[in-house]
Amino acid sequence: MKMHEYQAKELFRKFGIPVPQGLVARTAEEAFGATKEIMGPPWVVKAQIHAGGRGKGGGVRIAQTPEDVKKAAKAILETPLVTKQTGPEGRKVNQVLVEQGVEIDRELYLAVVIDRAKAMPVLIFSSAGGMEIEEVAEKTPELVLKQLIDPGTGWMPYHARTPAYSLDPLPDPDTLKDLMSLMANLYRAFIALDCSLAEINPLVVTKDGKLIALDAKINIDDNALVRQKDLKALEDPTEKDPLDYKAEKYNLNYIRLSGNIGAMVNGAGLAMATMDVIKLAGAEPANFLDVGGGASEEMVTRGLEIILEDENVKAILINIFGGILRCDVLARGVLAGAEKTAIKVPLIVRLEGTNVEEGRKILQESNLKFMVARDMVEAAEMVTAQVKKTA
Ligand code: GDP
Ligand code: MN
Repeated sequence: MKMHEYQAKELFRKFGIPVPQGLVARTAEEAFGATKEIMGPPWVVKAQIHAGGRGKGGGVRIAQTPEDVKKAAKAILETPLVTKQTGPEGRKVNQVLVEQGVEIDRELYLAVVIDRAKAMPVLIFSSAGGMEIEEVAEKTPELVLKQLIDPGTGWMPYHARTPAYSLDPLPDPDTLKDLMSLMANLYRAFIALDCSLAEINPLVVTKDGKLIALDAKINIDDNALVRQKDLKALEDPTEKDPLDYKAEKYNLNYIRLSGNIGAMVNGAGLAMATMDVIKLAGAEPANFLDVGGGASEEMVTRGLEIILEDENVKAILINIFGGILRCDVLARGVLAGAEKTAIKVPLIVRLEGTNVEEGRKILQESNLKFMVARDMVEAAEMVTAQVKKTA
């Protein structure tokens, strides 16, 4: 789960990581009003979207007067923001963060992520923080230091000392001490919040030697959200793909893909096998959708709705092996889904297993138009022939 910068900064504050004073605004007027409470000039107005690279895309603006803050907020809020992470269509910005401007002496990079190969958290530190960090990592990887942290033994002072003392020139002793405790605090936050990523870029040293997290990014491991209910409540549904959001709400395992065959399957293994046979037949799946072994009629309905809402879908394949999910339940779910949204694309059904006769009968006696496939391979071939025909 991703979080907004302002939310990540509030969490950082709780873990003793200094962040600039700031307020969230949803309108240009609110942004103007915020300048009365936030120290400035200068102020910084920052687009709050789940995508990086805002600085280069015009989503981070420095303003010298409250009037300029208002103008900057208006400009950011009224046009979709395009960054290298949003795609060319950009992302609508619903809120901005108005912050006190900071005088930067140095921009550092600091993050904790999981090193999957080593199965350990790793602290990543660089003296060359800022908007070019990807380029730094690519062209001068020696400037990016990695410090593995064994979660068994936990945090050790050297985990901070080694990267911090690599700085050249070395900051003054107080700044260096602050930097090392900030590193420890970031690790503490990473563990306590079940993060998959905690990143500060840039972590700045100000002209008077203070450290401030100027940017903040936190991603929470989705698998931990059951025990991070407070964090789950911070989720912003407007930042999610609406189909992903719907799937999550109804407990469907759904991943959107780039092809044009919408597939509804029960069980993850069968769903993967179905994607394989679709590809073997020469087509591309539009999604992975596992309604679950024990899906209810409603889940089947919602699953079909999700497929029908995807404009890329040119044909649908329902491949069900009735076990705990009985074929008659599936058939009723499909009919309920088709009732709400007319199915305008070819539908191929392959049913097998528990109550298959009853399921087929329910479908046949309805006015739903569909084709029956005898087995999976035939189903994949039929659905592929349909998309080739419309292409
Ligand atoms: P990102 O581009 O989405 O990662 O957004 P950031 O929050 O990292 O901001 C981009 C850049 O704006 C930073 O690297 C800074 O150089 C600059 N910036 C942000 N806040 C301030 C500030 O308070 N003062 C100054 N001088 N620059 C800032
Ligand atoms: Mn940044």
